[in-house]
Amino acid sequence: MPPILDFQGRITEKRNLTHDVIFISLQLDQDLPFKPGQFVSIKITRNGETKLKSYSILNSPDKKKTIDLCIKLVEGGFASEIFKEAKVGDIFPLKGPFGHFVFDENAPEQDYYFIAAGTGVAPFHSMLQYHLPKLPTKNFTLLFGVRTQHDLFLHEEFKTLQQQYSNCTYTPTLSREQWTGAHGRVQYHLPQEMKGKMFYICGLKEMVLETKELLLKNGVIPDKIRSERYT
Ligand SMILES: Cc1cc2nc3c(=O)[nH]c(=O)nc-3n(C[C@H](O)[C@H](O)[C@H](O)COP(=O)(O)OP(=O)(O)OC[C@H]3O[C@@H](n4cnc5c(N)ncnc54)[C@H](O)[C@@H]3O)c2cc1C
Repeated sequence: MPPILDFQGRITEKRNLTHDVIFISLQLDQDLPFKPGQFVSIKITRNGETKLKSYSILNSPDKKKTIDLCIKLVEGGFASEIFKEAKVGDIFPLKGPFGHFVFDENAPEQDYYFIAAGTGVAPFHSMLQYHLPKLPTKNFTLLFGVRTQHDLFLHEEFKTLQQQYSNCTYTPTLSREQWTGAHGRVQYHLPQEMKGKMFYICGLKEMVLETKELLLKNGVIPDKIRSERYT
């Protein structure tokens, strides 16, 4: 894994992806080698108290000296309240990259399922951007769960990846709204035959644990399941 560094990031772009998810791009004061799927910790100081908060890197490592993040603004959340008010030009101390939730290029499997809820989709955006062009013989399916169409983000980017790469399937699914696309939680859209495939899961605790349990019940061996929990 790449070395863990202390560095600074200056916000160069901030925009809304949905009503409660923002996109932030940070220009770094040094190059940050990382693997798609890894995360950084941001030192947040609020009312004299400092906490380290983790965020998955959204972009591919091909983008130098830059990291993009997608951040859910949780009402009253310690870091969320800072990010809500943050402006272009603001500087944050960071540390990273951290984590082992990275794509195993040497795994023998042909079929990979990336299962995400909400901002848990961030590491998969980085992995797909980086690995898709390099692995034309492997098949990738992204199952992306949100509540309603208003909560969908990066939707056009993932649709473009699906059009661009015949080995990429993108299935957005809505749990609280009917539409022309898939309906229900991500777990409902797992393949019928689960053996012989690799599963990567990312999101909040409950979704990760439920999905893991379902996969294990269906005979998937623990070795074929990788996961990252946001809480
Ligand atoms: C390895 C790792 C990577 C992470 N990557 C991301 C990321 O890319 N984007 C991101 O938005 N968050 C990510 N998180 C979560 C993030 O670190 C914070 O927990 C989150 O931003 C809330 O922090 P806060 O200080 O604003 O809220 P707090 O004051 O800590 O309040 C926490 C409350 O917010 C809820 N909550 C926390 N995260 C989320 C979320 N993503 N969606 C819905 N509810 C949430 C918790 O269940 C809890 O109720 C990651 C966490 C880990 C451990």
